[in-house]
Amino acid sequence: TDDAPMLKVENLEGWYAESHVLHGVSFDVRPGEVVTLLGRNGAGKTTTLRAIMGILSKRQGSVQFDGRELIKLAPRDIARAGIAFCPEERGIFSSLSVDENLMLPPQVKSGGLSREEILDMFPNLRERLSSQGTKLSGGEQQMLAIGRILRTGAKFLLLDEPTEGLAPVIVQQIGKTLVDLKARGFTIVLVEQNFRFAASVADRHFVVEQGRVIDMIPNHDINNNIEKLHTYLGV
Ligand code: ATP
Repeated sequence: TDDAPMLKVENLEGWYAESHVLHGVSFDVRPGEVVTLLGRNGAGKTTTLRAIMGILSKRQGSVQFDGRELIKLAPRDIARAGIAFCPEERGIFSSLSVDENLMLPPQVKSGGLSREEILDMFPNLRERLSSQGTKLSGGEQQMLAIGRILRTGAKFLLLDEPTEGLAPVIVQQIGKTLVDLKARGFTIVLVEQNFRFAASVADRHFVVEQGRVIDMIPNHDINNNIEKLHTYLGV
């Protein structure tokens, strides 16, 4: 049924060399949902995305996607399964033009957005097609980083702090983009520090603390949980 999770993460553990960072992360994402991972700096949110994507060298537990176990797969095969990752650093190649950056990610599934569809979503990028990656503003870089993963055909997106360091008006634009993607049937896991932004786009929030998910708050219930969230986030 539609209520069956698209992604089910169970007891996910992860290490950087000897350093044990994830201690049993569990959460699930239903098709078409936007969920956030909220939590303080160093809680393990980014590492959770890296572990799902297979780019953490040592990990164990279970990551089921579309009913298939991914925990032992290489990043390339996880991407082929239909998961795309947009890292916090955005990964824009500075020596390449916007257009070249856009065309870079390999298509892993049919049904990815075309170059034209992506440029329709991000009109700013159309103006900047021949500019070098580094000449872009932070907001344009973020739009390029999101835009280009839409070409891959992946319908499940892991986005690491897309609003970080951006002006409020750009944050709003990114928010509109995420709502648009949800309407187009994308499923999204968002790491966020900006709790207001998270509340404006997400269906559910998972609170990460010390390498575990310690709480889940449905967005419709967020006003009853503000104090609790302030405690979790240390604000
Ligand atoms: P942030 O917002 O700071 O990115 P986060 O919740 O995403 O917070 P992670 O980046 O996942 O946290 O970090 C979890 C823990 O892993 C932290 O203690 C951090 O110091 C450690 N860590 C992160 N990256 C590395 C690395 N490359 N090598 C060793 N330890 C790391």
